Amino acid sequence: MATIDFDFRNQLIQSDIGKTLTYCYQCATCSSVCPVSQVTNGRYNPRRLILTSLLGLKEKIFGSENSFEIWGCTVCDTCDEVCPQKVELTEIFTILKNISIERGEAPEHYTSQASVIFENGKAIPMQTSIERRRTQLGLPKILAPDIKEIKKLLIETNLEKKIPKKETE
Ligand code: SF4
Ligand code: SF4
Repeated sequence: MATIDFDFRNQLIQSDIGKTLTYCYQCATCSSVCPVSQVTNGRYNPRRLILTSLLGLKEKIFGSENSFEIWGCTVCDTCDEVCPQKVELTEIFTILKNISIERGEAPEHYTSQASVIFENGKAIPMQTSIERRRTQLGLPKILAPDIKEIKKLLIETNLEKKIPKKETE
């Protein structure tokens, strides 16, 4: 049986966003409209995640085997728009994702994307083929990002420390 982690529970419900967890009456409107819940036949379930968070069932939320429990959310905000109790679902899920990152459990495709942004200043680095296509279409050149400035921001905000370092050969 899962145990209640009171520190984790308090950490959530004592914040302005997290306290909206307590408004939830488990109507399941969120999971009925969630596109991820629909395509995964309920494997991902925002209502369940709100409940386990409210109850402080930390071991049901974190751990690499539970990764999809948190990271399945695509932050489309559909659930937020329909929740009759104004529970801040996506903001709460962001708190959980941040904890997951702190625990070193974020899926590799997220951290590698962060690494690309750190190194290139953008999620999709400019490529010759993109530049050629833009020229063919008569589109203006895209200005290069100020990578130094972006790196400085990511270092100052400690995000850089959370990107796993690639092992050098
Ligand atoms: S829609 Fe809102 S009140 Fe209903 S289960 Fe989801 S979070 Fe709870
Ligand atoms: S924000 Fe996340 S939980 Fe809410 S409907 Fe979209 S995918 Fe589902």
